[in-house]
Amino acid sequence: MTRLSTKAIRIQAERSENNEHSVPLYLTSSYVFDDAEDMRAQFSEEKDGNIYSRYANPNVDEFIQKMAALEGAENGWATATGMAAVFTLFGALLNSGDHIVSCRSVFGSTHKLFTEILPKWDIDYTYVNYDDYHGFENEIKPETKVVYIETPTNPALDIIDIERLSNICKRRNVFLVVDNCFATPLLQQPIKWGADIVIHSATKYIDGQGRTLGGVILGTNEIIEKVKGFARHSGPALSPFNAWVLSKSLETLDVRLERHCKSALEIARRLEKHPAVEFVKYPFLPSHQQYEIAKKQMVNGGGMITFVLKGGIKSGRDFLNNLKMFSLTANLGDARSIATHPASTTHAKLTPQQRAEVGISDGLVRLSIGLEHVEDIWDDIAIGLLV
Ligand SMILES: *Cc1c(COP(=O)(O)O)cnc(C)c1O
Repeated sequence: MTRLSTKAIRIQAERSENNEHSVPLYLTSSYVFDDAEDMRAQFSEEKDGNIYSRYANPNVDEFIQKMAALEGAENGWATATGMAAVFTLFGALLNSGDHIVSCRSVFGSTHKLFTEILPKWDIDYTYVNYDDYHGFENEIKPETKVVYIETPTNPALDIIDIERLSNICKRRNVFLVVDNCFATPLLQQPIKWGADIVIHSATKYIDGQGRTLGGVILGTNEIIEKVKGFARHSGPALSPFNAWVLSKSLETLDVRLERHCKSALEIARRLEKHPAVEFVKYPFLPSHQQYEIAKKQMVNGGGMITFVLKGGIKSGRDFLNNLKMFSLTANLGDARSIATHPASTTHAKLTPQQRAEVGISDGLVRLSIGLEHVEDIWDDIAIGLLV
């Protein structure tokens, strides 16, 4: 059992005395002790035990074990949402006065954490453009504890060379954290390229059917011990039910991604030839500016495409209004294809200049290519483009 796709299917919690094939759902908030001595030993951590589901749960542990195996990490910790994973990691690793260097284009709520929430504890940040490796190095100060990136970035789909950046981080003795949500461990394993910590919103491709929220932090035993110490007592625990759903979803991640990637590449190629389209960005299109880096560190191009329509904000909105099948919703990585228009929604509060800095022009449309038949997906886009 050496291949990732098999591990995603075959790693599972120990069977109970019922010999079930599919892992049962452990909906329990706490666990009983054999006697007073057992209770004392578990509480003092002399003996392993679950104790309480805010600490541990068989469904949650199974999900963590699978994710750690897939990312090539020593250990992990699961959280109720992707944002809980981001916040828990910072809560565990950072002290007041510390500093973060981050790529400029990050998920909206992560941006809010940096700009509005972490400053309450005197934790500061500096943004650097995704392709400015000297910038990343120059902005690392004595107080800097982590360099934080997403690659591919959202929504611009720019690619950051994880190996190159991890060499800088190692030299400067700071942790490199990668939010690997867009790629999943089956398309990109940041730890293999030198990252110290990987974070996921499991809500996206890992669930893959838009049902549950979840998050996970993966890293060395030493890092995860710190995370555990913070999370056990601050309470961002993943629910057993959601863990069970996510763990089951991992069984189909490989086949789902195969379809997501194949259809997305085909749609990206067709969009590139369409007269209403100014340009298309997809990591595995040779026209992508960081195509070589994408080819090096990613197994496949993923399910996300962005493209820019020639007519600005109005054309982006008209395109969305013309779609019949695509869902207009905030999620991504779903079985159902999804379209969004960042300039009038998620990034509407930014000035045009700020939007340009994170790679969002007014006509930019973001597509999450689903699992529907590729010709039905194209038919819908082609109708949408008749503007
Ligand atoms: C959605 C998302 C998150 C946040 O995850 P939630 O599960 O919604 O809390 C973080 N990072 C990226 C890149 C995301 O797409």
